[in-house]
Parts: sequence; structure tokens; C-alpha cells
Amino acid sequence: MTPFSQVPAVYHRLVGDVLVTALCDGYVAYDTLEIMRDGDHAKLARFLQDDGRTVPPVVSINAFLIRDGTRTILVDCGSGDIMGPTCGHLPGLLRGLGIDPGAITDVLLTHVHPDHSNGLTDPATGRKLFPNALVHVHQAEIDHWFDDAAKAGATERQKRVYFDAGRVQLGPYLDGAVRRFSHEHEALPGITAVPSTGHTPGHTCYILRSRGEAMIVWGDTVHVPEVQLGDPGVGMIFDTDSAAGAVSRRRILQRCVEEDLLVAGMHIHFPGFARIRPGHVGAFRFVQEQWFHAPHPGRGASLDR
Ligand SMILES: [Zn+2]
Repeated sequence: MTPFSQVPAVYHRLVGDVLVTALCDGYVAYDTLEIMRDGDHAKLARFLQDDGRTVPPVVSINAFLIRDGTRTILVDCGSGDIMGPTCGHLPGLLRGLGIDPGAITDVLLTHVHPDHSNGLTDPATGRKLFPNALVHVHQAEIDHWFDDAAKAGATERQKRVYFDAGRVQLGPYLDGAVRRFSHEHEALPGITAVPSTGHTPGHTCYILRSRGEAMIVWGDTVHVPEVQLGDPGVGMIFDTDSAAGAVSRRRILQRCVEEDLLVAGMHIHFPGFARIRPGHVGAFRFVQEQWFHAPHPGRGASLDR
């Protein structure tokens, strides 16, 4: 067989005047449908098969770099070394773009989970991997993952991968480099933090607006689009509160439809952009955005040129 390696998974897209770059940290290939909660497994498998996907699903892990000419912002920061050999590519992708980690001004965390926040700190040394960044995170994330009583009620895996890792990752930033919030607000110029709790206690989406265009980075609103748009009631075993997560999912999906938001998803197949349309009763339709060869769909050459 001809040896090969895949090209680095980096994709640029303009939203108004702001350059958004999708960075694929890697992927996770699950070996069971048990990762999904509150759904009939035969139906879940049918959703996946109808879309030509693998059963059980393979899930991409993306982060998004936002450059507005003033700030260099990461929304989530990859999984570090915790998710195994198919993940952990984000530092190499930044290097390939010529971006020094010291140039990252802000990290907007959608939530504290290993595939989103484990790129903050080197666990071996406790050294910040983004030494000049301000980390924006919902107060409830800190309250929950640093709560010993909540940790005592968790499984051994949850203790290690969520609570212990979360404390190691956030800890070095708590000394003055964390901006906490608990309500919808403008986190940075042009970027609104929109709490959508349930998946975790402080799960948050971020809406970027520039020159009349709008994009929502929706974190883990949806893990498996083929399933959870057809049946938004299906949650994941990783949810802290699946019922609250489903309420947030429906609310965010509805907002995506009503405001025609461009979606940037941490677990949407790379490059991770989509639109949401109304579906059958209570359901939604997922329209993955096509790959554009120019950074903006409207700014290529015209046919008659
Ligand atoms: Zn996730």
C-alpha cells in the first residue's frame, strides 16, 4: 500500500471581517451506541445508517481560532495528551500556522471537559500552555469541577478525567487569568457568551457578529448531528444533566433557525460549519456547509470574469 499521512486539518472562513479558522484536534471512534442516552438504539443506528455514517459514530474534535485584527482568540483548546493517539493535534496545527501560543490573547471555554480544556496546561509540569491568555469560563464550571462533594459522587473515570484533570488544567490560570461569568453578556467586542447549561453546569455557546453576519460556536450542543437533530431529546452519557441539556439543545437549535446563525461545532465533522433548518415535527435538519476554496463564500471569482 502507498504510505500516506493526512493533510493538517485547518480551514479558514471569514465571518464579516473576522477570520475564523477551524482546527481539528483529532477524532474519537466510539465502540458502542451506549454513549447516547434516552434513545431507542435501533432508531439511533437507523439515523446514522441513513446518512451513510459508521455505527457507532466517529466524532470529530474541533477548536476554533478567531482573529479580528486585534485579538487572537481560541474557542476551546484541544485535548492535550488525554484522549489517546487519534487526538492532540492542535499545538502542531498552531505551529503550522506560525502562531506562537504566547500570542493567544483569550481562550473562550465552552466548558471544562477533556476534549475542550485539556490543552490549557502541561499536566507534567503545571506550566500554562497559553501564558498570556485570559480564560473565559462560566462560574458554574469552576464551582462544579472544584466541588469535592460533587467529585465524591462521581465514577472513578469521571473523578480522574473530569474533576482531577479539570483542576490541573484550570488551576494555573485561577491566579488572575480567569474571567468568570454567569449570564449572557458581551465577552469580547463582537462576541456574546450565551450560557446553555445541562451538558455541563456552565456549558456556554459564543455568538460572533461582524458586518451583518453571525456565527455561533455551539460547543457540545450536539455531539452526533445525524441523531440529535432528528431527535433532540437524545443526550450523551457525558452529560451532567441530560434533561437540562436537551432543553438547551432545543433552544439553541431554534435560535440557529430563527437567526440563521452559521454553526461552528466542536463535534461536527471537519471543517465543522453548518446551518440548521426546521425538520419534521419537533426535529431539525442539519445542512453541513460546503467547502469553500476562498475564505469567504461570496468573495471568489465570478464565472464571467
Ligand atoms: Zn465535547
